[in-house]
Amino acid sequence: MLKFLAGVAGAAICLAAAGAGQAADLAAAKAAIDAGLDRGYPKLEALYKDLHQNPELGFQEKATAAKLAREMRALGFEVTEGVGGTGVVAIYRNGKGPTVLVRTELDALPMEEKTGLPYASKAVATWNGKPSPVAHSCGHDIHMAAWVGTAQALVAMKDKWRGTLMFIGQPSEETVSGARAMLADRLFERFGKPDLGFALHVGPGPAGTVSYKPGVNSSNSDSLDITFHGKGGHGSTPHVTIDPVIEAARFTMDVQTVVSREKDATQFGVITVGSIQSGSAGNIIPDTAIVRGTVRSFDAGVREVLLNGIRRTATAVAAMSGAPAPDIQLVSGGRAVMNDAAVTARTATVFKQAFGDKALLSPGPGSASEDYSEFIIAGVPSLFFGIGGYDPKDMAAARAKGETLAANHNPYFAPTPGLSIRTGVTAMTLAVLNVMAP
Ligand SMILES: [Zn+2]
Ligand SMILES: [Zn+2]
Repeated sequence: MLKFLAGVAGAAICLAAAGAGQAADLAAAKAAIDAGLDRGYPKLEALYKDLHQNPELGFQEKATAAKLAREMRALGFEVTEGVGGTGVVAIYRNGKGPTVLVRTELDALPMEEKTGLPYASKAVATWNGKPSPVAHSCGHDIHMAAWVGTAQALVAMKDKWRGTLMFIGQPSEETVSGARAMLADRLFERFGKPDLGFALHVGPGPAGTVSYKPGVNSSNSDSLDITFHGKGGHGSTPHVTIDPVIEAARFTMDVQTVVSREKDATQFGVITVGSIQSGSAGNIIPDTAIVRGTVRSFDAGVREVLLNGIRRTATAVAAMSGAPAPDIQLVSGGRAVMNDAAVTARTATVFKQAFGDKALLSPGPGSASEDYSEFIIAGVPSLFFGIGGYDPKDMAAARAKGETLAANHNPYFAPTPGLSIRTGVTAMTLAVLNVMAP
């Protein structure tokens, strides 16, 4: 029998060190997961490489969803596709106990992969009305393989836990809109509201490590999309025009003083302009300039300071040029992921026992955003944890040359599947078992 540290969801959390019997149960569970992986890993890697070579953009993940649905049906899950667009919900009932959510993302990024790997993506899809290369440069394919592997491990060990598994494949995480789409499609009303939830993300750390942190784990994300209006004309007669390129340039520079002069210097906040689009030729002053960017913060008050500063700067810049007021769109993206303190502590105890010094407390929240926060805000206390993606030997070799290996969203991001997926499966399975042990 497997006896972990805590009872059913919502029970008092025991943070004491595990006794010898519990440690033996955990070691036995880990050995069973490892044995299952030894048998089943080649198939998981084949699935990973298939997903990697055939990535799909947010809300277009039809083939990806179908592949995951097929795997889960084969394991005996009740599977519903098309939830929130292309989302997948897989339910496995195994007696009375908590309902536990395990989430993976399905989507890839509109970018070219440059890893040169034999299974690198060559996919192309439509993005903003134009053809774009597509790549799994955030590692969501690692997450999907680990998600299927976790389901396999839990089904194989179903005498060790009680309750209901709710495995979800979420569309369009990269646009921070897929979680909301699933919730708007009445995810919890139709399939039940989970008592607890887990998700993981691979990063550029050493494979074999797991990392976690109570409280804030990712940033609030807002996008800015501002159209500056001018008055077009000949490049040789700027005095009879209003130049929107100047407005865009002045805004891009001046808005940084919101960060450096208005935001509390001890608090995290970023404004990045990532796209300026205007004009067609060097001798034409265009009519409009469109500036797009992203705004990141942890704290709600800081977020307001940044957004207000952007509005004020854009309006003032247009007024300085004698231009019409700009069209300012600030759209809320992901909200910060807040890990539940009790779920984190409870799971950390198991991670420390299972992974030893490879279980790491994250030094601080990342500035990336993540819409898993929507499930937390909807009332599912959760742990969103990290796994390392790179072979420690490759990391050491890069370090010796004074280099670092590419991180997520870089065209060279290339996590090593073997140890990353195995660690993801082991960590996620142990986390779920720990809260579902009878
Ligand atoms: Zn990403
Ligand atoms: Zn991601």
